[in-house]
Amino acid sequence: MLPRVAIGRPNASVRANVDRYRLLVGDGLMDEVTRLARELSGVRICHVNSTAYGGGVAELLSRYLPLVQGFGISAEWRLIHGAPEFFTITKSFHNALQGAHYDLPESAQTLYLSVNEESAQLLDANYDVIVVHDPQPAAIRHFAGRRNAKWIWRCHIDSSAADLQVVDFLAPYIDEYDALVFTMPAFLLPRLDQARASFIAPAIDPFATKNIDLPIELCRRAISDSGIDLERPLLLQVSRFDPWKDPLGVVEAYRIVKREISGVQLALIGAMAGDDPEGWRLLDLVQEESARDPDLFVFTNVAGIGSMEVNVFQRGCDVVVQKSIREGFGLVVSEALWKEKPVVAGRAGGIPMQFPEGFDEYLVDGVEECARRITHLLHHLGERGRFGRAGRERVRSQFLLPRLARDELKLISEVVNGKTG
Ligand code: UDP
Repeated sequence: MLPRVAIGRPNASVRANVDRYRLLVGDGLMDEVTRLARELSGVRICHVNSTAYGGGVAELLSRYLPLVQGFGISAEWRLIHGAPEFFTITKSFHNALQGAHYDLPESAQTLYLSVNEESAQLLDANYDVIVVHDPQPAAIRHFAGRRNAKWIWRCHIDSSAADLQVVDFLAPYIDEYDALVFTMPAFLLPRLDQARASFIAPAIDPFATKNIDLPIELCRRAISDSGIDLERPLLLQVSRFDPWKDPLGVVEAYRIVKREISGVQLALIGAMAGDDPEGWRLLDLVQEESARDPDLFVFTNVAGIGSMEVNVFQRGCDVVVQKSIREGFGLVVSEALWKEKPVVAGRAGGIPMQFPEGFDEYLVDGVEECARRITHLLHHLGERGRFGRAGRERVRSQFLLPRLARDELKLISEVVNGKTG
């Protein structure tokens, strides 16, 4: 029988070749990361989260850790596993932190705490800094005790309108951390010591399979093989099937666009995350829509869609849509902009900061507006090109992995040296 709780170790030690980033981000930033890494030499860092695949945190850690290891940092990744009921509860926490109401039952509190307690017992004690991501393992600090380590809680969620019942429950556990990191000031949770908070935005890896340059002809051929006609326009949303990503709203917007541009097609690509039971229900709904419409395509990682396919579709489509209602950051937005694709996206959470200056009109607040902005871009090839080029430059200067490494290592250095926490 599988243990009820386990703590795994994905990608034990892979070092990225850091020099290749120099040409993209410049010597100044790379030298700063090198200096910080030297300062932190011998400091053992551990990142803890709850899923190794599906979703932005897993994506981020899988690329971030090899990068900092490439700079000589000792960094490990540990994963807490719990039974499916645990993830149903933590998904409700996630939703509540994003603003959904949740009547937190006693039984949920008990199970959440017991999985955190057992995970804490399984976590080795030999780290100097432990970075815990998101609410799933947030109480692990409480049960582990200090252990001579510094503890950082890193929240990736758009918690700008969090449900206070869940905040009240989690706050005493989060309050035990030495430092807190949110993506932007608007996400800072109430009830916490604001002086311990920092703000760091995530980033993408230009050398990940998902983002590496690919010949456009290859992308077009691969997309055509999946039954899509690239003589006609293609819209794309790549997202977990999650109500906050509003895939049904994307379908609605696409239907409105279709009234004017009848040949338009829509591809929805959605990874099913291990810690996201809600996703399967939403997948059924979009698959029903797709069964009735030969121009609406739904692909999942279950059917073999991986990073390379995401890359291919992001490069080969005409307009990327990210119609989020709440969004912690939305790595997919930077991924698309990096590939010089125009993006029509919900004006939510971490999305606007990724947009290049002068293109805010493509941040939308509803289905009708989303459809109008998509239609406009489909009619204006030149605008698509300008938007894409400005987007790539914005991502190059702000949202590539070395900038994230600099900001995080700087914070860790401050925490270790007692300037924060
Ligand atoms: N992703 C993927 N396949 C999919 C759907 C998503 O590889 O079918 C990736 C996507 O490319 C991005 C990450 O998962 O790198 C999602 O991160 P984001 O910040 O956009 O959203 P989250 O899922 O964390 O809310």
